[in-house]
Amino acid sequence: MRIAITGTPGVGKTTVSKLLAGRLGYEYTSVKDFAVEHGIGKRVGDEIEIDVDELAEIMDETIGKNVVIDGHLSHYVPVDFVIVLRADPKIVAQRLIERDYLKKKVGENVEAELIDEILVEALEENENVIEVDTTGKTPEEIVEEIVHLLEGGVKRRVGIVDWSDRFDDIVEYLRR
Ligand code: ADP
Ligand code: MG
Repeated sequence: MRIAITGTPGVGKTTVSKLLAGRLGYEYTSVKDFAVEHGIGKRVGDEIEIDVDELAEIMDETIGKNVVIDGHLSHYVPVDFVIVLRADPKIVAQRLIERDYLKKKVGENVEAELIDEILVEALEENENVIEVDTTGKTPEEIVEEIVHLLEGGVKRRVGIVDWSDRFDDIVEYLRR
């Protein structure tokens, strides 16, 4: 089956996707690499803007059946399951700062995680959405949780985190 691994930047998508693909014996593909290889998206300033309809169509025609798709746009691709990785917004902030993201970008992504932005997008695209809270878990534990849920026939599990009670800890990242 096709599994999309989505979530806010820094949440652990690439780490988990590669490990999960290995665990299942599936192909691994990243939306970003795929878009570059297939000339999808155009440069706008210092960012690449991807037309998600074009991405979905070309990926659907090109990728295999047993594949893990890594990326914060992967929920736009036709898949059997969308896994939305979640992490405490403070962890997201710390990882993005470590990655030298600009203050503004850190703030935008912390806010996105706080308000469930990717989850909401994923729910607009697919019925089969499974949220996984990665906070305090190793990548291996996260992969086992995903495999367990899929093998158990779980098709949808949403609304498992609420970061609003973390607000006081992350408000500093939201100020501009
Ligand atoms: P994404 O692809 O969502 O941006 P990455 O997989 O690149 O996220 O992970 C971001 C950073 O966090 C990396 O340095 C990675 O090693 C680390 N990381 C990812 N998952 C975990 C985890 N479960 N526990 C601890 N560190 C993690
Ligand atoms: Mg990544």
